[in-house]
Amino acid sequence: MATHRVGIVVFENAEVLDFCGPFEVFSVTRLDEDQRRTTASPFEVVLVAESTRPVRANGGMTVVPDYAFADCPRLDILLVPGGWGTRAQIANTHTRAASSSMPEGRAWPAAAALLLAVAGCSSDSDVGSDSEPPPARENWQRALLHTDLELDLATMTGRAVISVADGEAPGASWAVGGLDIHAVRGADGPLTYRVRDGRLDVGVPDTGAPVVVTIDYRFAAQEAFEGWMAGAGLSFLWPAFCSNLFPCRPAPAEGQTYTLAINGVAEGDTAVYPATIPAPAPAYMPAVAVGPFTELDLGTTQAGTRLKAWYPAAAASAAATGTAHLVAVMDFYEQTYGPYRYGDVAGSVSAAWEAGFGGMEHHPFWHVAADAMDEPEVHAHEAAHGWFGNGVRMACWEDFVLSEGTVSYMAARALGRQGVDIWPEYDCRLQRICHDEQRNTVARPDGCNAITLDEHPLWSQVPYMKGARFFREVAALVGAGPLDAALADFHQRHVGDAARMEELIAELQAAFPSEAMAIAELADGWLRQRACPAIPDRDCPAG
Ligand SMILES: [Zn+2]
Repeated sequence: MATHRVGIVVFENAEVLDFCGPFEVFSVTRLDEDQRRTTASPFEVVLVAESTRPVRANGGMTVVPDYAFADCPRLDILLVPGGWGTRAQIANTHTRAASSSMPEGRAWPAAAALLLAVAGCSSDSDVGSDSEPPPARENWQRALLHTDLELDLATMTGRAVISVADGEAPGASWAVGGLDIHAVRGADGPLTYRVRDGRLDVGVPDTGAPVVVTIDYRFAAQEAFEGWMAGAGLSFLWPAFCSNLFPCRPAPAEGQTYTLAINGVAEGDTAVYPATIPAPAPAYMPAVAVGPFTELDLGTTQAGTRLKAWYPAAAASAAATGTAHLVAVMDFYEQTYGPYRYGDVAGSVSAAWEAGFGGMEHHPFWHVAADAMDEPEVHAHEAAHGWFGNGVRMACWEDFVLSEGTVSYMAARALGRQGVDIWPEYDCRLQRICHDEQRNTVARPDGCNAITLDEHPLWSQVPYMKGARFFREVAALVGAGPLDAALADFHQRHVGDAARMEELIAELQAAFPSEAMAIAELADGWLRQRACPAIPDRDCPAG
């Protein structure tokens, strides 16, 4: 017969009945009443305390603990009695440490513990068995390695098969804001889970190895740019709406690889999505576009990346204009900043968005608004996010300029080499920001994830244009080629991981020590304050 060890905590001013009563009940329990005198209790009851020194309970009764917390044997049940000292004990870190070394959920008030003991004895069930799934537990520390996502667009159902890294503690959490969770399973069967405040906590066991968790759910169609936009046939998850499409971690620093399968596509439509995203990506990156797409082969870079474009037949000439330089641009990025990591095939997908939306850096198949399909800058910009924003992720939303400023500069640089000068257009955007008190803001605010990006003034052209201009001025100081080499170095060091804008500024200062002061002045003035660069006087259209 398995014996369950019950630890009863005793402490100064503990209520006597609260620990003597349970002690008596556990010790006189028998599984077979007829054999009371020849068998022992299925419980071994021990008294535990801060130390083994005698403890004075309520009313002055002195008891001698069997064990101190530090050398307490493994317990199946921990019982904390009531009394005036209980609150102090809850704050007592040793008591909490003893509780946390217990099998999950085995610390109850006296009454609950008694109920459990009675239930366990009468059913002879295996109380405290290690094969039971652990209880649901909030844990954002356990990294996610890979999500295999299967979506059915007709039934609006999804299955996410997620590889969760080994961690210090059991449990794992996801944001599931708009999802209706149906089932959560591990390799050996159902896992315990709870959904609370838009969060899914799962009792993922701590096995010393990665654990695969399968989550079945239903998702809803979104009208706004907040998930699966059924009407437009597009997913849009940036910045933190991934939780309306799949269980995710929306923080920009979180990266993992993905595989995707899309079912339930209407007859005559094509779903454009990557079957695999082979390098770590933030959660806003996986995407699908559904429509009557024509697929155009644009060519192949020296490194072997095939570029394509997808668009409705009517947009053929716009797509041809916009993507005319895309192979050369991508080739420049690969040759200058490092290999492209999101697959052998990449390209632009026309997105049926409202006007003026630009694009979205879903890699390897990024989205370009239908009305921007003829703008080489938007294609070049979204492609560059393969290196910054996705390749090197933002550590915090406040590092938006690390993503947008850097790629705005890269796009201007790559297109400039093709004879397309987009700086006049950038100057106009800068003018609109800098000549308007309402629009001008700080490009690199302090803090980390203290802001909700799509509701903050930072969600503007400021990080794009002040950022691009910052890099252009650094290039004027050190040379565009040496700046490219420094950006390539930084990319190499941080690719697959998240970084802060401050790190990039510091690395540029280290790479160009004689210009370190000047770089610091540019960063302090244009990125950390509202100051604006001097803008050439241009005749700019209103916008
Ligand atoms: Zn961008």
